Amino acid sequence: MKSLVVSLHDVSPLTRARCEKILSDLSTSGVHQVSLLAIPNHHGRAPVRENRSFQSWLTRQVETGHEPVLHGYLHKRQKRTADSWFSKLTTEIYTAGEGEFFDLSFDSAAKLLGDGLADLAFLPRKVIGFVAPAWLLSKAAEQAVRSAGFMYTTRVGCVRIFEPLSQINSRSLVWSTRAKWRVSASLCWNKVLAIAKSSAPILRVSIHPADVVQGRVWQQIRKIIATACRERECVSYERLVERLRSHSTDVG
Ligand SMILES: [Zn+2]
Repeated sequence: MKSLVVSLHDVSPLTRARCEKILSDLSTSGVHQVSLLAIPNHHGRAPVRENRSFQSWLTRQVETGHEPVLHGYLHKRQKRTADSWFSKLTTEIYTAGEGEFFDLSFDSAAKLLGDGLADLAFLPRKVIGFVAPAWLLSKAAEQAVRSAGFMYTTRVGCVRIFEPLSQINSRSLVWSTRAKWRVSASLCWNKVLAIAKSSAPILRVSIHPADVVQGRVWQQIRKIIATACRERECVSYERLVERLRSHSTDVG
């Protein structure tokens, strides 16, 4: 059966109310397994390790079947004094300064990954997925992700599985709501992409907390998911990766 993978980005104490609304609406549509991309200390203003109420809430979500995924540490890139014009273009304009793992060294990435896992250690289960903020992950940082024991990462255009290393190309639907023109462009682009992907084996839908307060965007996301649920099984990235790995082992 074809798969639908829904992920919710930027889960943190700062976005909890919106995340609750999103998960509640998704549950109504029959989506009970969502990959929750959690930020340990969102913009340095929301340390999860000091927030018992948030820890309990996230634990409950995981216990009901959602998957916890590490999503950066601060979700904010530290500006470098020697940034090239390309770095500035990519990190400041494309991601509004969120590309935390865009050009990290192995050691810097390993430190943040270790801190992130330690902060999420209250969870009742292991975190096996890492997704970089804005999907920007340097080569050295990806090596650090592998070394830290994660089983997979994702980018906007693919899912990368470690051990054995393999890549499944599948472009995710994702909406941008930072400006009015971006909302309109997202609605058009995702409508086309959803049709183009209708017979693909894997459909990926990436949701951000801001999507739920943009009426037309949230309406479109719910419609696409409801349609997909009729003919696809909705699974977390973890479950998808397990299946793909066992399949590749079967095949030899
Ligand atoms: Zn993010």
